[in-house]
Amino acid sequence: MRIDVLGVGFDNMTADEAVSTAYGAVCGDGPAGYAVTPNPEIVWLCRSDEGLRDAVNGAFLVLPDGIGVIYGARILGTPLTARIPGIDFITALLARMAKTGKSVFLFGSKPGVAEAAAENLSAAHPGIVISGTCDGYFTDDGPIIEKINAASPDLLLVCLGAPKQELWMAENASRLNVRLMAGLGGSLDVFAGNVKRAPEAWQRLGLEWLYRLIKEPRRIKRMIKLPLFVLAVIMKRIRG
Ligand code: UDP
Repeated sequence: MRIDVLGVGFDNMTADEAVSTAYGAVCGDGPAGYAVTPNPEIVWLCRSDEGLRDAVNGAFLVLPDGIGVIYGARILGTPLTARIPGIDFITALLARMAKTGKSVFLFGSKPGVAEAAAENLSAAHPGIVISGTCDGYFTDDGPIIEKINAASPDLLLVCLGAPKQELWMAENASRLNVRLMAGLGGSLDVFAGNVKRAPEAWQRLGLEWLYRLIKEPRRIKRMIKLPLFVLAVIMKRIRG
């Protein structure tokens, strides 16, 4: 069942259920589609961008990555079971895939980042097969699609930042020979060791966004959408 938060339908499940569902797709017979992890900023963009809204709602899995989405759903009277940060979801999925020797292709981020991430992921999850890497700065995606299809991975990580990755996955899903894709923003930077996640206490308090803002103050322009999101949720609740 999906829970609507300002036009975006979120899958209402625990983190374990999300990983099991994704793992089932990775082991399935044909392409299942893609997973997205929208935060309030993306929900806000979806309100005025129908194409993006369709891309997000058309995903196989829509997981709430962001404490704002959890509060939004609660204020609207339809609480979500759990916040599922994209990086935790994918780490657990890769751990599961490693046990059965499944393959993953790492696509996105600056040149060299996916390769460094591949090295660290191979060390962290022995058994995982890295079937290819490609950076996220391109003008023609034809050769990239050919490269991915030649590798035909079970899972494709698409780390182009939001909303580029959601639009890319929706547009190219039918051209790709992969079982599941997941749009995961800056996750490759974290796996490569170039970007540090917030300390666990901050994560537990739902303050990862504040930590990122302190580390990268230029994100303020993007985060300004958060109060707009909260206001829209409150208005919707008041109007019933
Ligand atoms: N990126 C990319 N191609 C682009 C723009 C961005 O591969 O054309 C990468 C960028 O290098 C970074 C990631 O996308 O690794 C975006 O990271 P961010 O933390 O900003 O992601 P978000 O907050 O959107 O999840």
